[in-house]
Amino acid sequence: MLDLFSIFSKGGIVLWCFQSTSEIFTPSVNALIRSVILQERTGNNSFNHNALTLQYKLDNEFELVFVVAYQRILQLSYVDKFLNDVHLEFRDKYKNDLQGGGGSIFVDYDFKSSFDKILKGCEVWAKSQAKIPKQMRTFEDSQKSKKTVASMIERKGEEKSTKKSVKIVENKNMTNGKVEESPEIEDDVIAANRAKLAQKLASKGVKKDVKKSPKSPKNEDRVKQPRVWALGGGARDLPTLDFSTDKPEDADVTADTQLIGKMTGAIRDLEVESDESSSEEEETTDAQPSPKKSGGMFSIFKGLVGSKALTEESMRPALDKMRDHLIGKNVAADIANKLCDSVAAKLEGKVLGTFDSVAKTVKATLHEALVQLLSPKRRVDILRDCLHAQQAQRPYVMAFCGVNGVGKSTNLAKICFWLIENDMSVLIAACDTFRAGAVEQLRTHTRHLNALHPESRHNGRKMVHLYEKGYGKDAAGIAMEAIRYAAESRIDVVLVDTAGRMQDNEPLMRALAKLIKVNEPDMVLFVGEALVGNEAVDQLVKFNQALADHSSSTNPHMIDGIVLTKFDTIDDKVGAAISMTYITGQPIVFVGTGQTYTDLKALNANAVVHALMK
Ligand code: GDP
Repeated sequence: MLDLFSIFSKGGIVLWCFQSTSEIFTPSVNALIRSVILQERTGNNSFNHNALTLQYKLDNEFELVFVVAYQRILQLSYVDKFLNDVHLEFRDKYKNDLQGGGGSIFVDYDFKSSFDKILKGCEVWAKSQAKIPKQMRTFEDSQKSKKTVASMIERKGEEKSTKKSVKIVENKNMTNGKVEESPEIEDDVIAANRAKLAQKLASKGVKKDVKKSPKSPKNEDRVKQPRVWALGGGARDLPTLDFSTDKPEDADVTADTQLIGKMTGAIRDLEVESDESSSEEEETTDAQPSPKKSGGMFSIFKGLVGSKALTEESMRPALDKMRDHLIGKNVAADIANKLCDSVAAKLEGKVLGTFDSVAKTVKATLHEALVQLLSPKRRVDILRDCLHAQQAQRPYVMAFCGVNGVGKSTNLAKICFWLIENDMSVLIAACDTFRAGAVEQLRTHTRHLNALHPESRHNGRKMVHLYEKGYGKDAAGIAMEAIRYAAESRIDVVLVDTAGRMQDNEPLMRALAKLIKVNEPDMVLFVGEALVGNEAVDQLVKFNQALADHSSSTNPHMIDGIVLTKFDTIDDKVGAAISMTYITGQPIVFVGTGQTYTDLKALNANAVVHALMK
């Protein structure tokens, strides 16, 4: 089905190539390089040339370009995933040869077998996706059923008040050319909208009721909700939240069967914002600015004059506003500065025809930079790694660290649920020997998780075990014993819960470094709240520094990945995701989106960047 796959350096060396026909693809690839890659139009990863569609992925670290070409009439749903997988695999396989960027002609890139394997995997994946039936909404569920006949009758004078709520629909119509705005009133509307924008910028952050994130419909009363573990249904009463009363591990727990089977396979992506289509419409209708378009952060670039080379000085006021916007979305100030500098560097000297293309180019540049930042630089596939460890007859070990109250134990339990849904038995090592109630909290989770996945479901195998030695003992020692116990008992995964600690508490940071050094977990996960702004940077820098300083090793084991918790509480202030990834260079492996076992998602870079750019 694929006609061509080529991996070449930005310097022009073809490192590896696959071609299924004898057709000559050089003109199409050259057109892609000339009109897309060299023009900084790389926001969209697809390009049509003659009868071909070319999709591509750039690797800026190693300065590589991955291009796949297929007939335009084909609808291949797996190409994005395929490009991603090939990219990660190629990087993983040849990272030593690629150091310094651009690859080398003297290396034999024998990649065919990996390529075939990935392609087969993606084709199977696409088939399985196609089989998932799309649920059709019933009439009662639809918006239409909620409308009364009266509400559909248009009356004079009501138009203004309803304008905002129908905005997305109107934008859609505009692309079909169906909305007709009288030219006489257009200028007035533009002027009115400008005044509104000025007002909005002046009272920034005060109101936000027009475009609410669908993830948190009740923005106005965003307060911390009491813990409600969806087990047995209904809200928990105080006695059940009291972890100090020590219940026996096999005490009767009623399982909420609705949760079972929801987390099989890879973790699902965070959902994309529902108003994404409307922002796409904005882009496609850029040539004819419409008064109905939202101002958004990019409207500030409209003041820049087109048709001459952009200079740092001419972009500065606009870049400053962009930085403020990012900070407003909770990106740490330092990082917002760096991102803006990078956008400036990419745009400086660029000659632009019209000011509309300034907005487009800036949007594409920033979008690309942010998606690139959030995309994992290496393959993270925990289930696959667990299977490898299983084959090697050893447990796969994950350690969780972070400051107090960020959701370590809660998200550890969610990850545990995901693992047992995928038939991995788990040992939870209770190494938080500090906080009163920590062990009991894990005991409660163990009981609930075993109730959800009883032995009868897994051929008599108990799926979740707890290794605990009470309080005040050495955490590193307990973790070591737990790992040994798991190996002896053929338990697949060990999840090590550690005590929460402030990044400045030297003795506790030293103890954490010791735990990691002695036990060498496969993955050290930093658990951080999505609510934090500048603090996120301080925490991560100091955790990593402490792990490096106290390990007394030349190659210390630092943070391998991030668990971003409480994502459900932040509306569209998604900046912490950017700050944390920027600082560590490590991927966000899990995102916590609530307080039930199924509220665990994988980061969707596009969804996050979309929320950030809104
Ligand atoms: P720890 O001290 O780091 O182990 O934190 P806990 O696991 O005890 O969690 C602290 C609080 O955060 C609890 O009330 C959890 O229910 C809550 N929590 C954890 N993860 C999430 C999440 O993803 N979303 C929300 N809304 N609350 C969470």
